[in-house]
Amino acid sequence: MLEKQNYTVFCVGGSVRDSLLGQKASDWDLTTSALPQQICKVFNGFKMLMHGIKYGTVTVFIKGSPIEITTMREDGKYRNHRIPSEVSFTDKIEKDLARRDFTINAMAYHPQTGLIDPYNGFKHLKDKTICCVGNPGTRFQEDALRILRCLRFAAVLGYNIEEATSKALINEKDSLRWIACERVRDEFLKLLCSDFASIVILQYAEIFSVFIPKFVFDDYTIISLITLAPAQETIRLALLLFPMPQEQAKQTLSALRLPKKQIDSIFTILGHLSETVPSDKLAIKRKLIEMGIDNFRQWLTLKEILEPSLPICKVKELSEGCINHGCLKIKDLKIDGNDLKRIGFLAGKELGSTLSYLLEEVINEKLPNDKKTLLSAAKKRKINLR
Ligand code: ATP
Ligand code: MG
Repeated sequence: MLEKQNYTVFCVGGSVRDSLLGQKASDWDLTTSALPQQICKVFNGFKMLMHGIKYGTVTVFIKGSPIEITTMREDGKYRNHRIPSEVSFTDKIEKDLARRDFTINAMAYHPQTGLIDPYNGFKHLKDKTICCVGNPGTRFQEDALRILRCLRFAAVLGYNIEEATSKALINEKDSLRWIACERVRDEFLKLLCSDFASIVILQYAEIFSVFIPKFVFDDYTIISLITLAPAQETIRLALLLFPMPQEQAKQTLSALRLPKKQIDSIFTILGHLSETVPSDKLAIKRKLIEMGIDNFRQWLTLKEILEPSLPICKVKELSEGCINHGCLKIKDLKIDGNDLKRIGFLAGKELGSTLSYLLEEVINEKLPNDKKTLLSAAKKRKINLR
C-alpha cells in the first residue's frame, strides 16, 4: 500500500534478525520514506495507534496484528541518556540503520533489493556476536537502555559481546541510573528468563549491581542454578534473591516496581525454603492451603533445584492429586451456605464456622466430601452447639 503511493518501505530490526535465524518473528517493524501523516493517510480506515508519532512511529493493525511503521529517521543529540532531543526524517535507509543499536538489529530487507546490511549484521549473526553500530561508548551514553538490551540479546541468543562493546558496557554502566525503573525491570526480566541468563549475570555482575545494590551476583552456585529453573519470573527471582537478607530483597523488588502480588508470592516461597518437604498427604494438603497452589508448586520446584537429592517426584504426584481431586477450600465442599440455610442455619458466624469445621473434617479425612454426609454432620454440630 505504501509503495502504491511511491513511498519506499523495508522490513527492519528484530523481524529481519529473527527471520535470518530461521525463527518466527515476534513482531514486524517496517521503515518507510512516508512521513507519519502520510502513513496515516495510506492506512486510513485501519485501526491505528499514534503514541509513537513524535518519533515517527505509527502502529497499524493489519488483520489484527500490530505492525510498527516508522518513518526513516536520523536521531539528533540525546538528552537524559535516553531520548533524542530532536529527530529528522530522511529517505536514505542507510541513515536510518545507522541510528539502530546493534549490527544484528541494523539490517533491512526488501523482496526486490534483498538484504541491506551496511554493518555486517549477517556476519555477526553467524559469528554469534553482538556489536554496537558505531562507537560503543557514544551509543551507550546516548541511550543507557542499550546497555541492558545488549545484555538481554546476549542472554536470549547465547551470543558473545564484541570486545569494544563489552568494555563500553562496563564503562558506561552508571548511566543506567537514568533509566526508568519500569524499563530496567522489563529488560531485566526478559534477560532473567532467557536460556543463557546465568552466564551473562556472572560475567557482567558489576552492571547488575547498579540497579540491584549490594547484591552478590558472583555467588556462583546460586547464579548458575538460574537456568536450571523454569523460565518463570517469580521462580527465577526467588532463586536470585535467596542468598539476600530479607529487607534487602524487599527493597530490590520494590525498586524494580514489581506488582505487589508477585512480591508477596516471592516472599511466601522464600519464607518456606528452609522448611522440609512434606511427604504424607495430610501434610501436603496443609502446606497447599497455607501457601496457595501456585506458590506451593513453585516452592517445590525450587526445593528440587536446591536439593536435588530430595524425592520430589512422589510429592509432586501426591500434591497434584490433592489439587485436582482434593478439597482444599470451602468452595470445594459439596455443600455451600445456601444448603446450610435450608436446614435452619442463620447467615453469619454460625454458618461460616460450620463450613470451616466441615472443611477441616474433610481435609483430615474424618468425613468424605459428600453432600448427604456433610449435611448430617452439620445438623449434628448445630445440636451440639446448643
Ligand atoms: P524484540 O522485539 O525481540 O525485543 P527488537 O530488536 O525487534 O527485538 P524492538 O524494541 O522491537 O526490538 O525494536 C525494533 C528495532 O528498533 C531494533 O531491532 C533496533 O533496530 C531498533 N531499536 C530499538 N530500541 C533501540 C534503542 N534503544 N536504540 C537504538 N535502536 C533501537
Ligand atoms: Mg521488535
